[in-house]
Amino acid sequence: SVLKTISALKFLEHDGYVILSESVFLPSRLMFTVGHEDVYRFQIENKAYDNIIKTILRSHGGAFDGFVKINEADLAKKTGFSYKEIVSFLNKLQSIELLTYIQQTDQPQLQFVRARVDMEHFDVDVKYLELRKEILLKQINAVVAYASSNICRSIQLLNYFDETNATKCGVCDVCLAERRTVNEVQLNDEIDFEIISLLQHQPLILDDLVINIKNGSENERVDAIRELLDAGKIKTDGKKYYI
Ligand SMILES: [Zn+2]
Repeated sequence: SVLKTISALKFLEHDGYVILSESVFLPSRLMFTVGHEDVYRFQIENKAYDNIIKTILRSHGGAFDGFVKINEADLAKKTGFSYKEIVSFLNKLQSIELLTYIQQTDQPQLQFVRARVDMEHFDVDVKYLELRKEILLKQINAVVAYASSNICRSIQLLNYFDETNATKCGVCDVCLAERRTVNEVQLNDEIDFEIISLLQHQPLILDDLVINIKNGSENERVDAIRELLDAGKIKTDGKKYYI
């Protein structure tokens, strides 16, 4: 996976095999891969390229010795070509191996800083690797513990920062769930109380009993009646409910 590859590269970087740079802007560069005379001959034989090659040589004398930074927009302005035409010219010159052209990039770069090592001499800092793994595992476990605990999130966080006298926030998911449970229990108690009160007054058929309860939805009322029946707190003869 991408993530695994990046991690592996970071470890290689730690051990000094490569250098990684994230999203650095690198300007376009070019270098002639043939000598002066070959370039000159090419210019004479390919008039279309004469202007652009002259312009490159005029502003980048060192292009025979190594890579020089170029600016396509600047070359376009000086030659009267468009930016796109300059890029396509340079690509063509590269394809016929007159020069090497590397277009500007802001992509991450990977650079090998050591000669190629065969697997037998390939050393990885195992201790460092294991330490990193241990630290990461601890961090992941801490996050999992935080997410799966049913202690107020705010209290957990403040505990993490050594503040031990924190109080429940009342707004996190744990606090809200707790409040919901308390409300439910309270509601059920109120419905039960109503049912008992109504039936103490007189036996009722199910419909009348349900209609006369003031708290809860119809389903909650019927559930409460069934629970009281199961618990033996109210009775029924199949028609009417009574105590
Ligand atoms: Zn909370």
